[in-house]
Amino acid sequence: MRLNRHRQTPHALVSEKVIEFECRFCSNTHAKRIVSTFDHHSNLELPIDLVECSNCGIISIFPLPNEKTHEAAYPTDIVNPLLYSQNQRRKFVETLYRFFHPYSVRWRMKRVQKEIGVGRLLDVGCRNGDFLQVMRQQLWEVAGIERNPTQFEFATQTLGLEVYRSFSDLMPKYEGHFDVITYWHSLGHFSNPLKALDESLRLLRKNGLILIALPNLSSLDFLIYKSHWAALDAPRRLFHFSPQPMRNILRKKGLALVRKKVIPFDIYYNCLLSEKILIDSSACHNQTKIWRYFRAGMIGIIAHILSASGAGSGMLYVVKRDGK
Ligand SMILES: [Zn+2]
Repeated sequence: MRLNRHRQTPHALVSEKVIEFECRFCSNTHAKRIVSTFDHHSNLELPIDLVECSNCGIISIFPLPNEKTHEAAYPTDIVNPLLYSQNQRRKFVETLYRFFHPYSVRWRMKRVQKEIGVGRLLDVGCRNGDFLQVMRQQLWEVAGIERNPTQFEFATQTLGLEVYRSFSDLMPKYEGHFDVITYWHSLGHFSNPLKALDESLRLLRKNGLILIALPNLSSLDFLIYKSHWAALDAPRRLFHFSPQPMRNILRKKGLALVRKKVIPFDIYYNCLLSEKILIDSSACHNQTKIWRYFRAGMIGIIAHILSASGAGSGMLYVVKRDGK
């Protein structure tokens, strides 16, 4: 089904006025609305606003949903969370995704192995467990956390992985146990990311590392796609952390940045899916799909070149306890 959203574009809903809210990170009560988007994976046409805290710079959905509403926004019938869509016309993107996704998983594997050759890994928000499976094949001892019941069942029953539903399920057995804890774009999905980091630190061994992958709104592709940028993923992703606010959070949590890397696959993935969102929203009915996907490739290449400056569509932060 083609979603008929061109009569009321999200851009038209953006307001520059300062609004009242309470930041979950610094308790500041002022923020500015920066973009208005939609749930691109549902029938709901209600605009979803993203606001930026005027103090700490963290971007959040406003108003934040309660836990029940937030959970209900995740599909429960599809194992691959990156391609869920009510729109069945997705074969081209799906084919590309199936081709490139294994390379993306291998990139993650190599990043972890460059930090620590082999050890004990916890992947927070492990989805269907594909990354954990690859790491297990590399002789890592692996575990995951996943709340989505469909993903959880696939990871545990089909892949036979050790996956838990929450941090508390790993306590106290795994306190100080893991060499590496990974968040592949999952931190912004927690209603309390600071608490998630606290729990991670309890599970991390003394000199262990946390790898946090995050989408970056300070990127060229967000500036181009704005409300149609795929990585917004509203209303599932509640928070966005640009590099400077992220550094502040790390400092607040007593974490030191070891290194920061651009994730190359995210650039092309976000451009491609953003063009698909534009096609599905019928905002581009005068242009062909082929042109749209060609444009995605061109923007991706330019964004990739510009990412040499250190800011890309997706960023990976490798962190450890400060002073260790
Ligand atoms: Zn704040």
